[in-house]
Amino acid sequence: MSAGLYCGRFAPSPTGPLHLGSLVAALASWLDARSHRGRWLVRIEDIDPPREEAGAARAQLAALAALALVPDQPPVFQSGHSDRYLKALARLQATGQVYRCGCSRTAVEREAARLGLPLNVYPGTCRDRTVAPGPAGLRVRVPTEEVVFVDRACGPFSQQLEREVGDFLVRRADGLWAYQLAVVVDDGAQAITDVVRGADLLDNTPRQIHLQRLLQLPTPRYLHVPVVLNADGEKLSKQTGAAPLDLSDPVAQLERAWRHLGFAATGTATVAEFLSHAVRAWQGRWGPLVP
Ligand code: GLU
Repeated sequence: MSAGLYCGRFAPSPTGPLHLGSLVAALASWLDARSHRGRWLVRIEDIDPPREEAGAARAQLAALAALALVPDQPPVFQSGHSDRYLKALARLQATGQVYRCGCSRTAVEREAARLGLPLNVYPGTCRDRTVAPGPAGLRVRVPTEEVVFVDRACGPFSQQLEREVGDFLVRRADGLWAYQLAVVVDDGAQAITDVVRGADLLDNTPRQIHLQRLLQLPTPRYLHVPVVLNADGEKLSKQTGAAPLDLSDPVAQLERAWRHLGFAATGTATVAEFLSHAVRAWQGRWGPLVP
């Protein structure tokens, strides 16, 4: 890829301070952008206030600065992008791709169980019915054909969305935007060419590709890196008790994330030395970029 065409991003939800798991995603996306002489952006995904923690976004940005993972433009906040999401929604509605759904999560699970489906699969209950006025979620129809893509780390991945996911929410009944819509619209608006993030989101990617196609947005390349698990085998997150990064020793934190990504300790003494060593070692690690 020629210089300057690559654009990557780190997109944390401000639910708490950065921890080792989020640092792994931030470092991997930063390294991939820098090693391709690309740009790197930070987007705070603050579209779910009930899950957010006051001051978390500021703390996350301060942590990134302490680790010298500095974006090429000021960070953007999804909470300011409602107009963008409304436009995308209108576009989906105009082509009949979206319908109102009055089912609670419990109702979805009950119906899925009755039909012998996994409980997290939406069984299409409201697809062809008129939902009474009042608060309702908005779901996008999914295709019956498989969505297939090749992840740079995980290889080919396919999902039959109808059977494995079902029509999914683009806006929740409480009026909040769904992650899937917001992430696709913003990746498109920011002209992101490369998404590098934790492998817990691998199986969200076909939903995002489906939305990109409906909205006629380009599909970026994807690289999903291993997630960090706690002692109980759960993904490290605020809910599973992840410890905030100890920023009194930034190099030690970067080394931990680096080792998790499968590399040997660099033994460097400063953040600058660590990053320049890591950019060199990262080059070629995942093979050449395929358009
Ligand atoms: N905001 C999402 C999270 O923190 C990540 C979104 C993404 O990288 O696509 O889990």
